Amino acid sequence: MFDKGPHDDLKELADWQRELREQFPIITGHPELVYLDSAATSQKPQAVLDATSAYLTTSNANAGRGAYPWANRTTAMVERTRQRVKDFLGDSDRERSGVHFASGTTEGLRSVARDWLTDQLSDGDEILVPFADHRANLEPWLEAQRLLGQRGITAHLRALPYQAASGDYDHRALAGTVGPRTRFVAATHIHHVYGGDMNVHRIREAVGPDVPICLDAAQSIGHLPVSVTELDVDFVVFSGHKALALPGSGAVWARNARGAQFRPGGWYGTPNTVAIAALEAALDWLHAAGTDRIARWTTALTARITDRLRRLAPYEILGCQASLAADSTAQRRHGIVTFRHRRIPSDDLGFILFSHGFMVRADSLCQAGADHHDGSVRVSVHVYNTAEEIDRLLTVLATL
Ligand code: PMP
Repeated sequence: MFDKGPHDDLKELADWQRELREQFPIITGHPELVYLDSAATSQKPQAVLDATSAYLTTSNANAGRGAYPWANRTTAMVERTRQRVKDFLGDSDRERSGVHFASGTTEGLRSVARDWLTDQLSDGDEILVPFADHRANLEPWLEAQRLLGQRGITAHLRALPYQAASGDYDHRALAGTVGPRTRFVAATHIHHVYGGDMNVHRIREAVGPDVPICLDAAQSIGHLPVSVTELDVDFVVFSGHKALALPGSGAVWARNARGAQFRPGGWYGTPNTVAIAALEAALDWLHAAGTDRIARWTTALTARITDRLRRLAPYEILGCQASLAADSTAQRRHGIVTFRHRRIPSDDLGFILFSHGFMVRADSLCQAGADHHDGSVRVSVHVYNTAEEIDRLLTVLATL
């Protein structure tokens, strides 16, 4: 008996996916184009467009101010969306936890760094941070270190160790990196270049019960089930625009159980109420669609890409090589495949692909430590992409 593979999912979920794809007007309205850049930002279903328009045409007002129905409805909607975020993350301690809206992952991580972490560390404390993930998950911790330095406090940044073969974090080496002064870990859930799950569920085992963990979930929210209860992390930060909502609707979920309560400092002013209304609709849509099925669909599409691309000699697929074998039991890529052509520069490959209607990302992908020479092409999918689109892409790639 063979286990079911990712390819079976494309058959089993085909009817479900067809119905969902129909709900994305920008996709169905442009059959000549193929959007393969969802890791940069996602497209929006009609339900999100409708919720945005309904909010603006029935309730638009400032939140938390005013004693008239539009203002009250806006306030209620913002509070409801906070609860939706908690529900969506499987939060089982909702009395204690908090949700702060930020413009996106970058601002959210910065807020955790500046408004919370800087008050938690003493001279000589250590934090573990990723040095080869998105820059948005490195710069804020460097900034916190600088801010602490201005106060005469030295905080040490240690690199989260990676496993060379699989590209995820090395939890065994991690156990050796953690010491009595380790006070905080910043990690990434799904890598934005390699598409791998970074094994964050193992970080808790390695660091013990008391160290707060902050998760950059920019590439996982909306793509796969994320449970703060299972992962036992302390912060989850994400961007609504990558999860079918609008730009400007990021969130920081804080457990508020390890260390001080997270209270974003400063004066934040008017929240982006339109984006928050869209986020509520997007989370409802994703919940109804089922993030488990979305994960099966997108990993099946990426397996379809890697299974064919690895047989095309001019291409080098970046990231975990073990998972490329046809019978691999290593985890599959989550909706993201990044590769290079051995002769065609990546910028040119991006242009060539667009001349065939494919929209992909072609540059150094905001990876910490990467420079322009590290250019590559990233194909990233969401629930609206189809196996037929992938086949068309592979047909073009095979001619180059
Ligand atoms: N972290 C990761 C893993 C990302 O992929 C991205 C976006 N590419 C970010 C952070 C930054 O997200 P935003 O630009 O929405 O702040």
